[in-house]
Amino acid sequence: SKTAYVRTKPHLNIGTMGHVDHGKTTLTAAITKVLAEHGTDGTTKYVSFDRIDRAPEEAARGITINIAHVEYETGTRHYAHVDMPGHADYVKNMVTGAAQLDGAILVVSALDGVMPQTAEHVLLARQVGVDHIVVALNKADAGDEELTDLVELEVRELLTAQGYPGDAVPVVRVSGLGALRGEPRWTASVEALLDAVDTYVPVPERYLDAPFLLPVENVLTITGRGTVVTGAVERGVVRVGDRVDVLGADVQTVVTGLETFGKPMQEAQAGDNVALLLRGVPRDAVRRGHVVAAPGSVVPARRFTARVYVLSGRDGGRTTAVTTGYRPQFYIRTADVVGNIDLGEAAVARPGETVEMTVELGRAVPLEPGLGFAVREGGRTVGAGTVTSVG
Ligand code: GDP
Ligand code: MG
Repeated sequence: SKTAYVRTKPHLNIGTMGHVDHGKTTLTAAITKVLAEHGTDGTTKYVSFDRIDRAPEEAARGITINIAHVEYETGTRHYAHVDMPGHADYVKNMVTGAAQLDGAILVVSALDGVMPQTAEHVLLARQVGVDHIVVALNKADAGDEELTDLVELEVRELLTAQGYPGDAVPVVRVSGLGALRGEPRWTASVEALLDAVDTYVPVPERYLDAPFLLPVENVLTITGRGTVVTGAVERGVVRVGDRVDVLGADVQTVVTGLETFGKPMQEAQAGDNVALLLRGVPRDAVRRGHVVAAPGSVVPARRFTARVYVLSGRDGGRTTAVTTGYRPQFYIRTADVVGNIDLGEAAVARPGETVEMTVELGRAVPLEPGLGFAVREGGRTVGAGTVTSVG
C-alpha cells in the first residue's frame, strides 16, 4: 500500500507569480530539478516543464481552473508550490485566496522588466495578505548587467509603492533555463533563490485551534471509494472519522479518508493541501466553491460590507466608474457568486479609488471580517476587496 505522509518539517505554500513568459514554469521545473539532483534528503522528484504546463484542467461551474501543484523539500522545509499558466488563473486562484500562499516568488524577466501583470500580481498579493515576496530576476543568462541593475531598482520601487519593504526584499538573479540545462552557475543561482525563500518567508502562524475549514477547489470520484474533495485547509485540524458540514451542499457527513500528494494521513492541519474522502456524498452534491467545515462552526450569509479597491485601467481594470446597482461576480475563497453592490451616499466609485460598499450576494456563503475577495466582470478583475462586517 501507499507510504503514509510523515510530517518532519514545517510545510509552506508558495507559488510563482509574474508576467506571462517571464519564466515562471521554467523556474518551477528548475527548482524541482535542482533539489532532485542536489538536495540533501533525496525526497524531491523532478517535475518537467511539460508536466507542469499540462496541469489538469477542470471546468467547474463554467470556470476553467488551471493550477499545477508541485511538491519539494529543502533542507529545512516542505513546500507545495503552485504555478499557473495564465493571468486569469492567478486572479481566480491566488487573488481569491484559494491558493493560500504563505509567500510568493515574483518572477521578473531581466530582459523585459516590470510589465502590467507583474504590477497586478503584486497589487493583488498585497490585497490578499501575501506578506512575503522574494524576487527572481530571471533570464539573467541573457541579460546584461547594467540593464538588470535597472530592472532590480524598478522592481524594488514597485514593491515599495505597494507597501512591501522594497529595499529589504531579497532579489536573486537566476536563470531557470540555465539551471534546467544543468549549468553550474545557474544551478547555484536557483539554490540561492531557495535559500532566500527558506530564510525570508516565515512559517506562518497556523490557526490550528480554530474550527476546521476547507474551501473546496475540486471534486473527484474514486471508483469504489466515493466522493473526494480537494483544497487547502484554511484553518483548524481534521482527522479521519471527524464529522463535517458541507456548506453550499447542505450536507452533513464524515471524513473517511485523508491524503496529501497521494500519501495517506490521519490528520490534516491548516496550510496542508489535501484530498478528503467524504462518506455517502453523491458526486453531484458538492462543487468548487462549497466549504467543508466543523459542524455548526460557520453560518453562511448573503450580506456584507467591504472595503474594495477598484482597479484602474492601468491595473487592467475598468476605465469607467461603477455605480450602485452594479452586479459583478464575487470570487470569495473558491466560490464565484453574483452580487449586487450599494455604494451608499457616494453612489459612484471611480477606477483607482478605494471605497466602502454593501454587497448582497445571489446565494449565501461563509463570510467573516478580514476575508479577501476579487470582483470580476466579463473575465477580468475590476476590484479587490476585504470583508469588513457581515449581515
Ligand atoms: P511563464 O509564462 O512565466 O511560465 O514562462 P515560461 O516558463 O513558459 O517561459 C517563457 C519563455 O522564456 C520560454 O521560451 C522559456 O524557454 C524562456 N525562458 C524561461 N526562463 C529562461 C531563462 O532563464 N533564460 C532564458 N534565456 N530564457 C528563459
Ligand atoms: Mg507558465
